[in-house]
Amino acid sequence: MNYIQIAIDGPAGAGKSTIAKLIAKNLDYIYIDTGAMYRAITLKAMNLDIDLHDERLFDFVKETKFEFIDGLLVMDGINVSHEIRETRVSNHVSLVSSYFSVRSDLVKMQQHMAEKHNVVMDGRDIGYKVLPDAEFKFFLTATITKRAERRHLDNLERKIASDIFNIEIEIERRDYLDTTRRHSPLKAADDAIIIDTSDLNIEQVVMIITQRVREEE
Ligand code: C5P
Repeated sequence: MNYIQIAIDGPAGAGKSTIAKLIAKNLDYIYIDTGAMYRAITLKAMNLDIDLHDERLFDFVKETKFEFIDGLLVMDGINVSHEIRETRVSNHVSLVSSYFSVRSDLVKMQQHMAEKHNVVMDGRDIGYKVLPDAEFKFFLTATITKRAERRHLDNLERKIASDIFNIEIEIERRDYLDTTRRHSPLKAADDAIIIDTSDLNIEQVVMIITQRVREEE
C-alpha cells in the first residue's frame, strides 16, 4: 500500500502547525510536528544540564522515544507539549537543530513515522530532505509582523507568558539561524507550492491545501 505524504514547510509563525493539524483532521491523516521534536530534544538537553554548545553530548537523541498522541507530544513516556513552547526552549532550539547528528537521528525517526500512515508533516526541511518524494509540498510564508502576531495569540491561548515585541525579535533571529545554517537550512523544495498567508485566515489556507489534495488524491 502506498501512503500519501503532505509536506508543509516555512518560517516560524507562518501558521504551519495550526494549518497542518486541521488538514490532518479533515483528511484523517496523522499529523507530525517535527519542530516539536527539535524542541523536545532541546528541553531534554537542558534538563540533563549538558553544554548545549557541545554537539558530542547529543548522543542521547537516538535513544529518545517520541509518540504523537491526540495532538500531544510524548517524549520517553512524558507529555512535554507545554514545556517545549517555553521561551527558554525557543531561544536555544535553533542551536540544537543546527547539529548534523541531531538532525540525522531525528530525520530517520520522522521518515520511519511516515512509512505506515498517510501523514501531514510540518517543519523546515520536509519537502526537500525528510520526504523528498511527498506527493504534496507546500511552503507557507507571511510578513514578520503577521507571524509575530500569530505566535503571540497562540502563546496566550496556550497560557504561556508572551510579549509581542520580544516574539518578533525571537522569530527573526530564529529564521536567520535556520536559513543560514550549514545542514538542511530552511528553504522551499523546488517543486513546492508557495502560499503567502499574510492576508489569508487559517480556514482559507486549510481550504486551499485540502482542495488541492482532494483534487489529486
Ligand atoms: O516549528 P517550530 O517553530 O516549533 O520549530 C522550532 C525550531 O526547530 C525551528 O526554529 C528550527 O530551528 C527547528 N526545526 C528544524 N527542522 C524542522 C523543524 C524545526 O530545524 N524540520
